[in-house]
Amino acid sequence: MRPAIRAYLDGPGYVYAERPEAIAARHGFERVARLGSNENPFGPSPAAIEAASRALSEAHRYPDDSMSALRAALSTRYGEYPWVVGNGMDGIIETILRVFCEAGDRVVVSTPTFSFYGIAARGQGARVVTVPRGPGFGVEPDAFASACRGARVAFLCTPNNPTGTATPVDDVRAIAESCGDCLLFLDNAYVDFSDRDYAPLLSGCDNLVIGRTFSKLYGLAGFRVGYAQVPEWLLSAYTRAATPFFGLSSVSAAAAVGALGDEEHVNRTRRHVAAWRERIARDCPFPCHPSEANFLLVDVTPYTSDAAVAALAQEGVLVRSCRSFPDLADHHLRVSIGADWENERFLAAARSLFDRVPPA
Ligand SMILES: *Cc1c(COP(=O)(O)O)cnc(C)c1O
Repeated sequence: MRPAIRAYLDGPGYVYAERPEAIAARHGFERVARLGSNENPFGPSPAAIEAASRALSEAHRYPDDSMSALRAALSTRYGEYPWVVGNGMDGIIETILRVFCEAGDRVVVSTPTFSFYGIAARGQGARVVTVPRGPGFGVEPDAFASACRGARVAFLCTPNNPTGTATPVDDVRAIAESCGDCLLFLDNAYVDFSDRDYAPLLSGCDNLVIGRTFSKLYGLAGFRVGYAQVPEWLLSAYTRAATPFFGLSSVSAAAAVGALGDEEHVNRTRRHVAAWRERIARDCPFPCHPSEANFLLVDVTPYTSDAAVAALAQEGVLVRSCRSFPDLADHHLRVSIGADWENERFLAAARSLFDRVPPA
């Protein structure tokens, strides 16, 4: 007899981009342009690698249970807040849901967006309610806030994955102020690539958490380090709900501290992303949605998402199909800003795909 697996796992689970090795082998490329996961093409900062290497020799010891060095480094870099850290922002999302959700509780998600909110919420037995965005993928604050009233947690991603759209700071404030006792989780994974700053909202909103990550700007995706600003009243419950040591390894925490000290690496990444985002939006033959992130949502009509992904793979370019994103029409690609050669290869492949569009 096998024990029953919970029904919420009947779905597909988290959808990953295809492995670049598979594309390289199938189409005979030595290297593939990896534009599927919004990673930093420059790699980790040398300071992060050095700090992680130093931490290796102490890896027989458990980490500092309060992650004090990393949290202090976050305060130095971004200001004094009650910081929490986690095994990626994904780990923080899970912990927040463990703090607030009982089976049957309602969790609200603004769509189309990152899939893990829904997956993690269903893991807690919550009911997920999606609120589609309006024209141009803008969030409609009144509609979203009214869906949030009576819910336990709401997820709003800005700049949003996969659309690149940022929600105005004033709209986020209006939502936080009118959603009652619902916790608003603002996902700021891409805020480093935008000029907006949502942190000032924290002083006026007691129901707001801002989640961030070292995976994108800082180039530490493989280390799995997330961080978040939480209200003071939440800190103790969060700590008790978290996996011990905040779910973080001492080596990853050290890498993050090292990365926070290398401003030049971060500035170079930001300049590169801003310049290429403009250039790709201009030179890509298919229309790109305005983006404040390190990727672009490309409308590849008349191709379906998967057909375009397959065609680009043949040219040695890995991009993310958007077929699996609910409330997004099935003719979009999400294309990360990569290294120069990767972006050039994408543009060439996109032009060749565009030239093969069948006459209407
Ligand atoms: C990449 C990403 C995350 C998760 O980042 P990790 O810290 O790697 O877990 C969270 N939210 C969004 C929208 C992302 O794109």
